[in-house]
Amino acid sequence: MSEWSLECPACGATRQGASAASVCHACGQPWLVRYATLPVSRDVLLPRWDMWRYSTLLPLRDGERPVSLGEGATPLLDAPALARAVGVRALYVKDEGLNPTGSFKARGMSAAVTRARALGVPGLVVPTAGNAGAALSAYGAAAGMPVRVYAPETTPATILGTVRAFGAELVTVAGHIGDAGRAARAFASECGYFDVSTLREPYRIEGKKTMGLELAEQFGWRLPDVVVYPTGGGTGLIGMWKAFQELRGMGWLDASAAFPRMVTAQAAGCAPIVRAFGARADHATPWERPETHASGLRVPSALGDRLILRALYESNGDAAAASEDAIRRATARLAHTTGIDAAPEGGCALAVLESLVAAGRVSRDAEVVIFNTGSGVGYRS
Ligand SMILES: *Cc1c(COP(=O)(O)O)cnc(C)c1O
Repeated sequence: MSEWSLECPACGATRQGASAASVCHACGQPWLVRYATLPVSRDVLLPRWDMWRYSTLLPLRDGERPVSLGEGATPLLDAPALARAVGVRALYVKDEGLNPTGSFKARGMSAAVTRARALGVPGLVVPTAGNAGAALSAYGAAAGMPVRVYAPETTPATILGTVRAFGAELVTVAGHIGDAGRAARAFASECGYFDVSTLREPYRIEGKKTMGLELAEQFGWRLPDVVVYPTGGGTGLIGMWKAFQELRGMGWLDASAAFPRMVTAQAAGCAPIVRAFGARADHATPWERPETHASGLRVPSALGDRLILRALYESNGDAAAASEDAIRRATARLAHTTGIDAAPEGGCALAVLESLVAAGRVSRDAEVVIFNTGSGVGYRS
């Protein structure tokens, strides 16, 4: 409900918001949405219990109804037994597995499909490691728009079944999500479909930003000490970091509220951001043979690498990887200790937190949030 334009955080180029802009025309980096004005009063929050509660901070035109399936407003669960086991003062799990189609991809797709519908594009296309395709299929159905999904043939069968269940066209490809991405882009340029690939359009970030807004509201307008985020393309991490800046800019946070340290968790079999962070680099190089059963983390080359790394450095954050075994054990521990239906990506966040606490890189006095980004149900065969 606020006017916005697109701005390139790398080179400063700008563009008005109505176009189907993919990436910056000048330098090829992702666009971010910049709002002309943001509200100073929290009274603008709407009395609805999904992410569109924050409509005033999202790319939505006056009087426009979002394409929504009740995404967001997920619980922030206090896990004291897990906190004791890990050895930190407090540990909360933000359970994103409760979103429509079982992952936080719903948030990004709700925002992106809302804009794509307004642009009148003929259809929607996405490459996916699984959950993005399931979410887009549902939101395409909600908007009455055709959807085509490109997925590696190794994608969990349950997730592929979800894509088909919503009537989307599914194309499986040999290789990883990078290969699926090339096929999706070729199809998009041929048929004029809106390419909803991670960071090839600026709106999924705005949807995922609402995780940061919810954290602040759920903590009573302050923020935790540490946020551990299982990072694939990094949309959520970039989005939350953007949310925290906007919250501070609007004066919505308590005066004493500090920003959290942002921590990237990746699988040892695909850890390009962890490697770049270790080298204090400003960008990541592609991971050669990406392998992990945490399929949302099997992203060898993230378009938003510079933005992810910037958020880690600016927040005095950290990055670490966990082995497949450690991920499996932590996924089970998360489920057994809390009753949360943990996905392997959530398990990866827990495994990385445990290793950072043991190494003294996260303080035992810290109040920590880990993200369970999906529901475990999609990974059981
Ligand atoms: C996509 C996905 C991720 C990675 O999310 P990004 O914000 O792109 O880094 C993590 N977990 C699950 C379950 C996912 O589906």
